[in-house]
Amino acid sequence: MKWRQATRSNANLNKVAIVNQIIPFSCVDGPGSRLVIFLQGCNFNCKNCHNPHTIDLCDSCGDCVPTCPKKALTLIADDNNNRVIWDESLCSQCDICLSVCPKQSTPKTQQYSVREILDLIRSQVHFINGVTVSGGEASLQLPFIIALFRAMQSSPDLSHLSCMIDSNGSLSLNGWQQVLPFIQGAMIDLKAWQQDTHHYITGRGNHRIFSTLKMLAELGKLYEVRLLHIPRVSDFDSEVDAVAHYLTQLPSNVRVKLNAFQHHGVTGEALMWPSCTEAQMRQLANDLTQRGVNNLILPDIYL
Ligand code: SF4
Ligand code: SF4
Repeated sequence: MKWRQATRSNANLNKVAIVNQIIPFSCVDGPGSRLVIFLQGCNFNCKNCHNPHTIDLCDSCGDCVPTCPKKALTLIADDNNNRVIWDESLCSQCDICLSVCPKQSTPKTQQYSVREILDLIRSQVHFINGVTVSGGEASLQLPFIIALFRAMQSSPDLSHLSCMIDSNGSLSLNGWQQVLPFIQGAMIDLKAWQQDTHHYITGRGNHRIFSTLKMLAELGKLYEVRLLHIPRVSDFDSEVDAVAHYLTQLPSNVRVKLNAFQHHGVTGEALMWPSCTEAQMRQLANDLTQRGVNNLILPDIYL
């Protein structure tokens, strides 16, 4: 029996995620100072995405390899499968590889096992209050997240760190039930109020997001709901009565973060959309406040 438990534990520590980026300290991705792991891959296709190369998984087609001016990319045959290897030490971050990729992907990802991430967390443990898993859409790599947070909570030197997920809210309720015992809270994006508008912006409806918000709020695990204000595109201003009524029904400790649409990193049609000015954001905030919404968090900068 002990042998079987040890085998399972090793299997969990060896679980691997495809990681786009790790930030050792962030103060905008959950409470306090946090190490943030951005996982590759998303199931939405938001027109406003600031990191569109995080959406698809690389299929190792190799198109980007010869375009790299620093020879930081290598295509290798691994067990009869092609694989692109990125050498970060050679990379100048010119992003030519991103511009030639026929998918919305990047060769600049790395695989990390739970064991390797635990080592990274240990190297930062005296400077952070917790760990946030973000994306892309974090929940697409749910087994890795569960294995990581489970391992943190069973490690005496890491169990004091809070575990949070930053998500688009599309995970099924069954999926949330699996991960809820291992997280202290979640930050959930709501990109639009009406189905049609949400579908137009993200390519998906918002039924699941409302189900997620309801369940997390009922269980005391909704840390923050994030509304993206895109003037003349998203609909939180035109639907402000219904939006405010909904937000006032959430537990009073839930933060309502207003994000202002900006052009940084976006491509295609969204470049034609107007960016959100500070005045437009303050107008929406005032409209919500007048209707009883508290706990509003506004952007610090508008770039
Ligand atoms: S970003 Fe890095 S890997 Fe990509 S083309 Fe430039 S140097 Fe090469
Ligand atoms: S990053 Fe894009 S271009 Fe490069 S190998 Fe992967 S799918 Fe092909």
